[in-house]
Amino acid sequence: MEEVDCIVAGAGVVGLAVARALAMSGREVILLDSAEGIGTETSSRNSEVIHAGIYYPANSLMARFCVAGRRMLYPYCEERGVPHRNCGKLIVATNAQEDTMLAGIKARAEANGVEGMRVLTAAEAIAMEPNLQCTSALHSPTTGIIDSHAYMLALQGDAENAGCTPVFFSPVVRARAADRLVEVEVGGNDPMTLRCRLFVNAAGLHAPFLARHIEGMPQDRVPTAYYAKGNYFTLAGRSPFSRLIYPVPVPGGLGVHLTIDLGGQARFGPDVEWVDTIDYQVDPSRADSFYAAVRTYWPGLKDGGLQPGYAGIRPKIVPKGAPGQDFVVQGPQTHGVPGLINLFGIESPGLTASMAIAAHVLEVSTTG
Ligand SMILES: Cc1cc2nc3c(=O)[nH]c(=O)nc-3n(C[C@H](O)[C@H](O)[C@H](O)COP(=O)(O)OP(=O)(O)OC[C@H]3O[C@@H](n4cnc5c(N)ncnc54)[C@H](O)[C@@H]3O)c2cc1C
Repeated sequence: MEEVDCIVAGAGVVGLAVARALAMSGREVILLDSAEGIGTETSSRNSEVIHAGIYYPANSLMARFCVAGRRMLYPYCEERGVPHRNCGKLIVATNAQEDTMLAGIKARAEANGVEGMRVLTAAEAIAMEPNLQCTSALHSPTTGIIDSHAYMLALQGDAENAGCTPVFFSPVVRARAADRLVEVEVGGNDPMTLRCRLFVNAAGLHAPFLARHIEGMPQDRVPTAYYAKGNYFTLAGRSPFSRLIYPVPVPGGLGVHLTIDLGGQARFGPDVEWVDTIDYQVDPSRADSFYAAVRTYWPGLKDGGLQPGYAGIRPKIVPKGAPGQDFVVQGPQTHGVPGLINLFGIESPGLTASMAIAAHVLEVSTTG
């Protein structure tokens, strides 16, 4: 049986960042993915926003890795020519009650280390974005947008230059903890069994399923997977805004917000739809709830202006109605299996946080 130093399962943005960090630290890495190429799942089905780190609870992994990841991501994009734009974002209040909430959001952001947050009067916000209707707003200057596929290609390039071998059409079917090594059974066209000193489960939505198929992994440590679909509706024509526009968050979500891509296309979403299976169809009737929400801050939205766009699925590990979840990075100290690291619940801001998550995995791989 062939032996390698590290195997990473999953070539989404997180698996790619982990494979890159391990390879660049001098380790031998094989990156396996069941699909035909990189980033075919959640990493291609998101808002492509470089998040500042505003809303997450203080000291959570989401807060820490989002801020740290963002600080790594902008210089990386500059260096590697990854298309991105530090466009900024406005969180808009549309009544007196929401006006008072902005100070709390600002304080939370500042506790997380987010730079430059500023409360604006309605006149200041409308001077920045003339199509906006609001009573006040909070400006986040460090928020931006990124071409996520170009970013993943850059990560893959770095990983390969450092000796990592990506292998596609290669699902990890099961694994077994054996003698301080992990035996990994790979299916697909070229089935094989490999042994490694480090196995990183970065399978995104499928990470809990994969962990259940690792013999020796304590099953009570494997979270149940839940899926919360996020549907997007796109706007015909050019974006009426040049910054990202978010309402004040509503319980359980960020509210129907507007993001833009690097081509200037505006989209609204993602909403939250709890589902039992992975299905990316967008139900056109969901647009109904978008119109009223969007018109609170953009009265210019015309009837029929929204077209079904695309959907992504959040890899949840807590059910609907439960308090929010944090990223889970499980190393041997948590589950007792030498050489195994599981990544669970890497939902937003996983794209922004990817390089910081990778740095943490590298640390856990050496310290346990
Ligand atoms: C609607 C939505 C909007 C979002 N918006 C943002 C945003 O604007 N900004 C931000 O920072 N984050 C955002 N995120 C979060 C971000 O997209 C994710 O955190 C990130 O893409 C997760 O990457 P990943 O590599 O963990 O998972 P994935 O991209 O899902 O990759 C997992 C990979 O594992 C592979 N795989 C699965 N099972 C196996 C197996 N058994 N063997 C081998 N390979 C396997 C899959 O083929 C896949 O390629 C959003 C998420 C959603 C759902």
